[in-house]
Amino acid sequence: MTKEQKKAYQDVEVLKAILSKTLAGAKFRLDCGHHITFNHTLGNDITIYNGKKLKIICSQCGY
Ligand SMILES: [Zn+2]
Repeated sequence: MTKEQKKAYQDVEVLKAILSKTLAGAKFRLDCGHHITFNHTLGNDITIYNGKKLKIICSQCGY
C-alpha cells in the first residue's frame, strides 16, 4: 500500500464514533432473524458480510 492509499483510510475510532452516535440504543431485526440493540452490554454481536449488498447477521449465526 502506498502512502497516498494509506491516507484514504480513517482510524477505526472514527467508525466507532459514527456507529455509536448513529446507532446507540437502536434495535434491529437482522438477516438471520435474530435481534440487536446497539451499545447494549449483553446485546448480540454482529457479522457484516461486505459487498455491493451488505448482509448482516448475529455472530452466533456467522459461518
Ligand atoms: Zn442470528
